[in-house]
Amino acid sequence: MTPDSSILIAGAGTFGLSTSYHLAKAGYKNITVLEKSPTIPSHLSAGNDLNKILRAEYEDAFYTELALQAMREWKDNGLFAPHYHETGYLLCTSAAAPEKSKRTLAKSLSSVSSHPAFQGGEGQGGHKIICPINTRDDIRAVAPALDGPMQGWTGYLNRFAGYAHAADALRAMHAACCALGGVTFRLGDGVTALVYSNGDDAQPKGVCIGARTASGAVHTADVVVLALGAALGTVLGGPHGVGRHVAARAWSVGHVQLSEDEASRLRRIPVTYARDLGFFFEPDARTRLLKVCPAGAGYTNFVSGEEGREEETAPVSVSVPPEDSGWIPARDEAMIRRLLRETLPALADRPIVDKKLCWCADTADTDYIIDFVPGKGRVVVVSGDSGHAFKMLPVVGNWVKDVLEKGRQDIPRWRWKEGQDAGGDVSWRVGESIDIKDVKETVRG
Ligand SMILES: Cc1cc2nc3c(=O)[nH]c(=O)nc-3n(C[C@H](O)[C@H](O)[C@H](O)COP(=O)(O)OP(=O)(O)OC[C@H]3O[C@@H](n4cnc5c(N)ncnc54)[C@H](O)[C@@H]3O)c2cc1C
Repeated sequence: MTPDSSILIAGAGTFGLSTSYHLAKAGYKNITVLEKSPTIPSHLSAGNDLNKILRAEYEDAFYTELALQAMREWKDNGLFAPHYHETGYLLCTSAAAPEKSKRTLAKSLSSVSSHPAFQGGEGQGGHKIICPINTRDDIRAVAPALDGPMQGWTGYLNRFAGYAHAADALRAMHAACCALGGVTFRLGDGVTALVYSNGDDAQPKGVCIGARTASGAVHTADVVVLALGAALGTVLGGPHGVGRHVAARAWSVGHVQLSEDEASRLRRIPVTYARDLGFFFEPDARTRLLKVCPAGAGYTNFVSGEEGREEETAPVSVSVPPEDSGWIPARDEAMIRRLLRETLPALADRPIVDKKLCWCADTADTDYIIDFVPGKGRVVVVSGDSGHAFKMLPVVGNWVKDVLEKGRQDIPRWRWKEGQDAGGDVSWRVGESIDIKDVKETVRG
C-alpha cells in the first residue's frame, strides 16, 4: 500500500472510524467511508450509546494488555480524555449468582490484582486501586448512593476504570478524521454487495474490486475494509461468507429518567456490574438518563443467507440485526428491575424508557477478526467485536492499518474464522442465547 492507495471502508461505527482515523493520521489520502446511516454516530452502531464500560480486566492476559494500551489513550490523549469518566468499576456477584459468574469474577480480579499497572500506585483520593468488597458496608463505603440490600454481594472495586461517553467519543473521532483530511464520508447510502472483477479489467476474475450501495452506485478501490459490525452477514453472508462463524447478537438496553436531585445524588457512582444481574452507569450529565443493561447470553436473528444464490448452493443461515430493534424482551425488563431493587430500590418500579436491542458481532471464541477474507482478494474484515470492543476505539484502527500494510494477519487468534458456530458457552455470560423469533413477550417504550 502507498499513501495514494484507494481504500474503501464500509461502516463508520467504532471499528470503521478508528480505522479511518489511524489511516488518515499515517498519511493515507484516498479513503472513502460508506455509511448506511445519514448521521455519525449512526443509529445502527453498537457504539452509539450514552456510555460504555472502560476497564482492563479480562480472563485473558492478551486482551488485558491491549485494553491497557487503550486505557492509556483514554486517559492521556486529548482526543479521548474529555470523554473518559474515571468513576471506577464495581464488579460483584449477588448471593444467588451461579458458580459460573463467581468463577469469571475471580478470573477478572486475578487479571488485575497481580498486574503491575494496578499495583502499588494509589487511585483517586489516595485509595488503593483495587479494593475488595465482602459486605454491603464495603459497597456503601465506596458508593454511598447505592442504598439497596445487596445482600451477599461480593467482588471488588477497580478505581482505574470507568466509562466513556460513547456517542461523544465517536463524534470526536469523526471530527478528527475530517480535520486530518484524506477521508471522504458518504452517508445515508449503505453497502449492499461487494463487486468482483469479471476478468475484463486489470484484476483476475473473482477478485473484489469495490462495493455497490443501495442507490446503485459502484465504488471501486484497491482494498475494501468491511467494518459493518453486526450487519456483516448482510454483505458477506452465504457459503463463502461469514456463515454462522460470526453472528449478530443483541443485548437489551433500558434507561430510567431521573430528576435533577436524583441525578446529582448519583453523581460519580462507579459503573456497577453484578455479573449475574446486569449493570448501570452514572446518570448522563446532559439527559439525566441512567442506563441499565440486564445480564444474559443475548439474542440472535438467523435468516437465510443471500450470497450463495447464484451458485445454486443451499443458502446458509446468518444472524443479522432486524429492521426494528426498539423493544426488549419482557424478561429483561424484569431483570433490570431486580438489579435496581438490589441497588437503588427507589428506582425499581419507575418506567424503563428508550428501550432497545443493541447488536454486536459475536465469534465462538469471542476473539476479534482483522484479516483478509480467503478467496476474495483485497477484502479485509474488521469484526467479531463480541461485545467487548468499544474500549479499543483509540487503538483498534492501528491494528487494522498494520494488517493492510503487511498484507496478512500475524496474530493467529485474529485470523479469518471458520469452523465453530459463534456464541457457544461464553464464560462471562449467564443463561442461554435464544433467537428473537422465539422471544414470547416483549415490551416497547
Ligand atoms: C449491549 C451492548 C453493550 C456493550 N457494552 C460495551 C462496553 O461496556 N464496553 C465495551 O468496550 N464494549 C461494549 N460493547 C461492544 C461495542 O459496542 C462494540 O464492540 C463496538 O461498537 C463494535 O464496533 P463495530 O464497528 O464492529 O460495530 P458498530 O459500532 O455497530 O458499527 C457498525 C457500523 O456499520 C454501519 N452499517 C451497517 N450496515 C451497513 C451497510 N450495509 N453499509 C454501510 N454501513 C453499514 C452501521 O450504521 C454502523 O455505523 C457493547 C455492545 C453491546 C451490544
